[in-house]
Amino acid sequence: MRLLLMGAPGAGKGTQAVFIKNAYNIPHISTGDMFRSAIKNATPLGIMAKSYIDKGLLVPDSVTIGLVKERLSEADCIGGFILDGFPRNLFQAEELDKILAELGVKLDACLNIDVDQKVLTDRIVGRRVCPKCGASFHIENLKPQVEGICDYCGAELIQRKDDTLETVTPRLEVYNTSTAPLLDYYKKQGILKCVDGEGEVEQIFANILKALGEKND
Ligand code: AMP
Repeated sequence: MRLLLMGAPGAGKGTQAVFIKNAYNIPHISTGDMFRSAIKNATPLGIMAKSYIDKGLLVPDSVTIGLVKERLSEADCIGGFILDGFPRNLFQAEELDKILAELGVKLDACLNIDVDQKVLTDRIVGRRVCPKCGASFHIENLKPQVEGICDYCGAELIQRKDDTLETVTPRLEVYNTSTAPLLDYYKKQGILKCVDGEGEVEQIFANILKALGEKND
Protein backbone atom coordinates (compact mmCIF):
# COMPACT_ATOMS: atom_id res chain seq x y z
CA MET A 1 0.00 0.00 0.00
CA ARG A 2 1.47 3.33 -1.09
CA LEU A 3 -0.71 5.92 0.55
CA LEU A 4 -0.94 9.68 0.84
CA LEU A 5 -2.72 10.86 3.94
CA MET A 6 -4.36 14.23 3.41
CA GLY A 7 -6.48 16.50 5.58
CA ALA A 8 -6.30 19.87 7.29
CA PRO A 9 -4.21 20.32 10.43
CA GLY A 10 -6.21 18.70 13.23
CA ALA A 11 -8.11 16.33 10.92
CA GLY A 12 -6.63 13.31 12.73
CA LYS A 13 -3.96 12.23 10.23
CA GLY A 14 -1.41 11.38 12.93
CA THR A 15 -3.92 9.39 15.00
CA GLN A 16 -5.15 7.37 12.04
CA ALA A 17 -1.65 6.91 10.61
CA VAL A 18 -0.68 4.85 13.67
CA PHE A 19 -3.62 2.48 13.06
CA ILE A 20 -2.99 2.25 9.30
CA LYS A 21 0.71 1.63 9.84
CA ASN A 22 -0.05 -1.31 12.14
CA ALA A 23 -2.78 -2.71 9.88
CA TYR A 24 -0.63 -2.70 6.74
CA ASN A 25 2.78 -3.03 8.40
CA ILE A 26 4.27 -0.13 6.44
CA PRO A 27 6.33 2.86 7.62
CA HIS A 28 4.60 6.12 8.54
CA ILE A 29 6.54 9.00 7.02
CA SER A 30 5.51 12.34 8.45
CA THR A 31 7.42 15.37 7.23
CA GLY A 32 6.20 17.26 10.32
CA ASP A 33 7.69 14.54 12.58
CA MET A 34 10.95 14.63 10.61
CA PHE A 35 11.21 18.39 11.11
CA ARG A 36 10.32 18.11 14.80
CA SER A 37 13.01 15.49 15.31
CA ALA A 38 15.56 17.73 13.55
CA ILE A 39 14.49 20.64 15.78
CA LYS A 40 14.87 18.49 18.90
CA ASN A 41 18.38 17.51 17.82
CA ALA A 42 19.21 21.13 16.89
CA THR A 43 20.54 20.12 13.47
CA PRO A 44 21.03 22.84 10.80
CA LEU A 45 17.86 21.55 9.12
CA GLY A 46 15.97 21.80 12.42
CA ILE A 47 17.16 25.33 13.13
CA MET A 48 16.12 26.45 9.66
CA ALA A 49 12.76 24.61 9.72
CA LYS A 50 11.83 25.98 13.16
CA SER A 51 11.68 29.56 11.91
CA TYR A 52 8.92 28.56 9.46
CA ILE A 53 7.07 26.03 11.62
CA ASP A 54 6.73 28.42 14.57
CA LYS A 55 4.99 30.90 12.27
CA GLY A 56 2.64 28.26 10.82
CA LEU A 57 4.32 28.58 7.40
CA LEU A 58 5.61 25.88 5.05
CA VAL A 59 9.28 24.96 5.11
CA PRO A 60 10.81 25.74 1.66
CA ASP A 61 10.05 23.16 -1.04
CA SER A 62 13.67 22.49 -1.98
CA VAL A 63 14.47 21.26 1.53
CA THR A 64 11.26 19.31 2.05
CA ILE A 65 11.34 17.53 -1.30
CA GLY A 66 14.98 16.46 -0.82
CA LEU A 67 14.11 15.04 2.58
CA VAL A 68 11.19 13.02 1.22
CA LYS A 69 13.17 11.76 -1.75
CA GLU A 70 15.88 10.45 0.53
CA ARG A 71 13.40 8.82 2.92
CA LEU A 72 11.35 7.11 0.17
CA SER A 73 14.55 5.63 -1.24
CA GLU A 74 15.24 3.75 2.00
CA ALA A 75 14.79 -0.03 2.06
CA ASP A 76 11.81 -0.14 4.41
CA CYS A 77 9.69 1.78 1.85
CA ILE A 78 9.99 -0.88 -0.83
CA GLY A 79 6.83 -2.67 0.32
CA GLY A 80 4.81 0.51 0.77
CA PHE A 81 4.47 3.61 2.95
CA ILE A 82 2.10 6.18 4.38
CA LEU A 83 3.12 9.70 3.48
CA ASP A 84 1.60 12.16 5.96
CA GLY A 85 1.96 15.91 5.54
CA PHE A 86 3.51 15.71 2.08
CA PRO A 87 2.78 16.97 -0.52
CA ARG A 88 1.39 20.26 0.71
CA ASN A 89 1.30 22.22 -2.56
CA LEU A 90 1.13 21.58 -6.28
CA PHE A 91 4.87 21.82 -6.84
CA GLN A 92 5.54 19.19 -4.17
CA ALA A 93 2.86 16.94 -5.72
CA GLU A 94 4.47 17.20 -9.16
CA GLU A 95 7.91 16.53 -7.70
CA LEU A 96 6.53 13.53 -5.81
CA ASP A 97 5.23 12.10 -9.08
CA LYS A 98 8.77 12.40 -10.47
CA ILE A 99 10.33 10.74 -7.40
CA LEU A 100 7.86 7.84 -7.59
CA ALA A 101 8.46 7.45 -11.34
CA GLU A 102 12.22 7.26 -10.68
CA LEU A 103 11.59 4.60 -8.04
CA GLY A 104 9.30 2.78 -10.49
CA VAL A 105 6.27 2.79 -8.17
CA LYS A 106 2.77 4.30 -8.15
CA LEU A 107 0.47 5.57 -5.42
CA ASP A 108 -2.45 3.30 -4.55
CA ALA A 109 -4.55 5.96 -2.87
CA CYS A 110 -4.78 9.50 -1.62
CA LEU A 111 -6.93 9.37 1.47
CA ASN A 112 -8.54 12.61 2.60
CA ILE A 113 -9.80 12.86 6.17
CA ASP A 114 -12.53 15.45 6.04
CA VAL A 115 -13.34 17.59 9.10
CA ASP A 116 -15.41 20.77 9.33
CA GLN A 117 -13.19 23.86 9.61
CA LYS A 118 -15.00 24.97 12.79
CA VAL A 119 -13.97 21.77 14.60
CA LEU A 120 -10.30 21.99 13.63
CA THR A 121 -9.20 24.87 15.86
CA ASP A 122 -10.56 23.18 18.99
CA ARG A 123 -8.92 19.91 18.02
CA ILE A 124 -5.52 21.52 17.42
CA VAL A 125 -5.43 23.65 20.55
CA GLY A 126 -6.54 20.73 22.77
CA ARG A 127 -4.17 18.23 21.18
CA ARG A 128 -1.43 16.60 23.25
CA VAL A 129 1.15 14.39 21.58
CA CYS A 130 3.63 11.77 22.66
CA PRO A 131 7.17 12.94 21.80
CA LYS A 132 8.36 9.31 21.92
CA CYS A 133 5.91 7.25 19.83
CA GLY A 134 3.95 10.02 18.08
CA ALA A 135 0.50 9.07 19.43
CA SER A 136 -2.04 11.91 19.65
CA PHE A 137 -4.56 12.63 22.39
CA HIS A 138 -7.00 15.43 23.20
CA ILE A 139 -7.59 17.05 26.58
CA GLU A 140 -11.36 16.53 26.25
CA ASN A 141 -12.25 14.28 23.33
CA LEU A 142 -9.50 11.67 23.48
CA LYS A 143 -8.10 11.64 26.99
CA PRO A 144 -5.25 9.30 27.86
CA GLN A 145 -6.00 6.78 30.63
CA VAL A 146 -3.64 8.63 32.98
CA GLU A 147 -3.62 12.40 32.56
CA GLY A 148 -0.53 13.62 30.73
CA ILE A 149 0.87 10.13 30.05
CA CYS A 150 0.93 8.25 26.75
CA ASP A 151 -1.28 5.12 26.77
CA TYR A 152 1.08 3.32 24.40
CA CYS A 153 4.59 3.94 25.72
CA GLY A 154 4.21 5.74 29.05
CA ALA A 155 6.09 8.90 27.99
CA GLU A 156 4.96 12.32 29.20
CA LEU A 157 2.65 14.04 26.70
CA ILE A 158 3.47 17.50 25.37
CA GLN A 159 1.69 20.28 23.48
CA ARG A 160 3.31 21.03 20.12
CA LYS A 161 4.66 24.59 19.94
CA ASP A 162 2.64 25.24 16.77
CA ASP A 163 -0.61 23.94 18.31
CA THR A 164 -1.48 27.35 19.75
CA LEU A 165 -4.39 29.63 18.86
CA GLU A 166 -1.90 32.10 17.37
CA THR A 167 -0.41 29.61 14.91
CA VAL A 168 -3.65 27.83 13.99
CA THR A 169 -4.92 30.64 11.76
CA PRO A 170 -1.92 30.81 9.40
CA ARG A 171 -1.73 26.99 9.32
CA LEU A 172 -5.36 26.69 8.26
CA GLU A 173 -4.89 29.48 5.73
CA VAL A 174 -1.88 27.73 4.20
CA TYR A 175 -3.90 24.50 4.07
CA ASN A 176 -6.86 26.15 2.34
CA THR A 177 -4.83 28.02 -0.26
CA SER A 178 -1.96 25.62 -0.99
CA THR A 179 -2.90 22.10 0.09
CA ALA A 180 -6.66 21.71 -0.38
CA PRO A 181 -6.40 22.20 -4.19
CA LEU A 182 -4.38 18.97 -4.29
CA LEU A 183 -7.55 16.97 -3.68
CA ASP A 184 -8.57 17.83 -7.21
CA TYR A 185 -5.11 16.83 -8.48
CA TYR A 186 -5.50 13.32 -7.03
CA LYS A 187 -9.16 13.09 -8.01
CA LYS A 188 -8.03 13.58 -11.61
CA GLN A 189 -5.50 10.76 -11.10
CA GLY A 190 -8.46 8.57 -10.00
CA ILE A 191 -6.97 7.70 -6.59
CA LEU A 192 -8.77 10.11 -4.23
CA LYS A 193 -10.76 8.52 -1.39
CA CYS A 194 -12.56 10.61 1.22
CA VAL A 195 -13.69 9.66 4.71
CA ASP A 196 -15.60 11.64 7.31
CA GLY A 197 -13.11 12.51 10.04
CA GLU A 198 -15.66 13.40 12.74
CA GLY A 199 -16.84 10.86 15.28
CA GLU A 200 -15.20 8.01 17.17
CA VAL A 201 -11.58 7.28 16.29
CA GLU A 202 -12.31 3.53 15.85
CA GLN A 203 -15.26 4.19 13.54
CA ILE A 204 -13.19 6.56 11.39
CA PHE A 205 -10.50 3.88 11.14
CA ALA A 206 -13.10 1.28 10.11
CA ASN A 207 -14.30 3.68 7.39
CA ILE A 208 -10.69 4.18 6.25
CA LEU A 209 -10.11 0.43 5.93
CA LYS A 210 -13.33 0.13 3.95
CA ALA A 211 -12.37 3.03 1.65
CA LEU A 212 -8.88 1.61 1.07
CA GLY A 213 -10.35 -1.77 0.24
CA GLU A 214 -12.55 -0.30 -2.47
CA LYS A 215 -11.40 -0.14 -6.07
CA ASN A 216 -10.18 3.20 -7.44
CA ASP A 217 -12.56 5.11 -9.73
P1 AMP B 1 2.45 18.70 10.51
O1 AMP B 1 2.98 17.92 11.65
O2 AMP B 1 2.24 17.87 9.26
O3 AMP B 1 1.24 19.52 10.87
O4 AMP B 1 3.60 19.74 10.10
C1 AMP B 1 4.04 20.74 11.02
C2 AMP B 1 4.74 21.84 10.26
O5 AMP B 1 5.89 21.31 9.57
C3 AMP B 1 3.91 22.51 9.18
O6 AMP B 1 3.05 23.52 9.69
C4 AMP B 1 5.01 23.06 8.27
O7 AMP B 1 5.58 24.23 8.84
C5 AMP B 1 6.06 21.97 8.32
N1 AMP B 1 5.84 21.00 7.24
C6 AMP B 1 5.42 19.70 7.35
N2 AMP B 1 5.30 19.11 6.14
C7 AMP B 1 5.65 20.04 5.23
C8 AMP B 1 5.71 20.06 3.80
N3 AMP B 1 5.36 19.00 3.06
N4 AMP B 1 6.13 21.21 3.20
C9 AMP B 1 6.50 22.28 3.93
N5 AMP B 1 6.42 22.35 5.26
C10 AMP B 1 6.01 21.24 5.93
